[in-house]
Amino acid sequence: MCLERGVLEPAVIVHHIDHLKDRPDKALDEDNLQSVCAACHNRLHPEKGKHQEEPKQRKARVIQARANPEII
Ligand SMILES: [Zn+2]
Repeated sequence: MCLERGVLEPAVIVHHIDHLKDRPDKALDEDNLQSVCAACHNRLHPEKGKHQEEPKQRKARVIQARANPEII
């Protein structure tokens, strides 16, 4: 997919064109497999990241560090 846009990225994930959960019978069908990079695979599966889009309240935890007084 990247190469079609003139970008060269290592393909590290095998994408199932017909999704694995819909067509488990095509799991190893080479015509149904596509080598893609991680970013492209994320674009192919926007549903997988949905749970992460919910805003999370994050509190910054600030810890004050003090050196121990030296005892000599
Ligand atoms: Zn890509």
